[in-house]
Amino acid sequence: MAKYDRAVCPRCGEKALIPLVYGQPRWDIFREQEKGKCMFGGCMLKQNSKRWVCTGCGTKGDDEELGGP
Ligand SMILES: [Zn+2]
Repeated sequence: MAKYDRAVCPRCGEKALIPLVYGQPRWDIFREQEKGKCMFGGCMLKQNSKRWVCTGCGTKGDDEELGGP
């Protein structure tokens, strides 16, 4: 769950990105979501599915938008 710890939102510059989690909605996903560590994105991971959400401005995006380290 620490994948985006150093990522910065390309829109607002916040270091507040959390991963969007796809798949079966499991209780542990929602427990992490309650703690603000991830967000449940839906059951189906599609090719164009967003992979993270900024908790600062609500922007969702994929890994390419973040650029390299
Ligand atoms: Zn943002």
